[in-house]
Amino acid sequence: MLEKHYGKLTKGCESCFKGEKLVLFITGICPRDCPYCPLSEERKNRDTVFVNETETTSIQDLIDEVKTSGAKGAGITGGDPLARLARTIQYIKTLKQHFGKEFHIHLYTSLELLDEEKIKKLEEAGLDELRVHPDIFDKTLWHKIELLKETKMETCIEIPAIPKTEKQLFELIQFAKDKVNAFNLNELELAPLHSEEFKKNKWKTDKDSVTIEGSEKTAKNILKKARAWKVRIHFCSARFKDEVQFKGRLKNYAKNIALPCDKITEYGTISHAVIFLDKEKTPNEKKLKELLKSLKEKFPKEFFHLDKEKSRILCSIKIIRTLARTIPNCAIVEEYPTKDKTEIYFEWIS
Ligand code: SF4
Repeated sequence: MLEKHYGKLTKGCESCFKGEKLVLFITGICPRDCPYCPLSEERKNRDTVFVNETETTSIQDLIDEVKTSGAKGAGITGGDPLARLARTIQYIKTLKQHFGKEFHIHLYTSLELLDEEKIKKLEEAGLDELRVHPDIFDKTLWHKIELLKETKMETCIEIPAIPKTEKQLFELIQFAKDKVNAFNLNELELAPLHSEEFKKNKWKTDKDSVTIEGSEKTAKNILKKARAWKVRIHFCSARFKDEVQFKGRLKNYAKNIALPCDKITEYGTISHAVIFLDKEKTPNEKKLKELLKSLKEKFPKEFFHLDKEKSRILCSIKIIRTLARTIPNCAIVEEYPTKDKTEIYFEWIS
């Protein structure tokens, strides 16, 4: 099951489906220590900001990334964004000021730091959707879910579908169904920093995968029952996140940055040919410009582009085989359309 839902999806989920959300990781600080916390060592408990995959505290980088990625909204995550409330508010306001009211922002938090005043501040800053992550094994803070009844923001409870936790999940849904607008269940995945806890809890991975055996089954059981309760509920599988959301995000990026010499693949990556000065990829802008000039004299100009950052000439795949007969150091490359242009395929053809 890739994805399944009953009732309308939240607006945050709708644009995530289309890969239109930028991921703003606002801090790695979090008061909780969930045994399934997915954060990596690079992020966990570090007060650092990532805009999509790039670590940066520059507001300008954030604005540029929205433009390049073609995002129509953002999901603010962490850690717990409420652990750095002032920063979170500043980023929400900036995004709304630059991209307008329609730029949809949702935010994830646990219940630990949530209170009436913070909800009010987030709403005033322009946040559209608040998603909370209660502890299903400890009800001490569940009373805070009551606070969500008062806000105009869309509200959602988002929790992992831990195998064999139907009893706890039913209880939480029953408790919260008249207090929040919707529920999201995520497929549980192996957390890099918690392999010992996973072993202890007997949460085993599915064959050839990082998803946890039984998580999807638990989600299915919940969905069946919750349907009768008429709650809006959605299950998001790990495969769906990877195949649909990530691919959608790449495609949007690619559409925004593709040059006439680029080809966007069905996976949202960019494929083109490249010409270097030598096999060592030596940077020499003057020589590259000379080569570019001579190529543009013989072939249509739009087939070429100087990529100063990577000291190479980008070239349309359509003519590279012809060029490679006479020009050395030609290659075919497929890469992510992201800022770092990570290569996933490289082949010298001359
Ligand atoms: S609330 Fe989220 S970030 Fe914090 S420990 Fe739990 S899973 Fe990790």
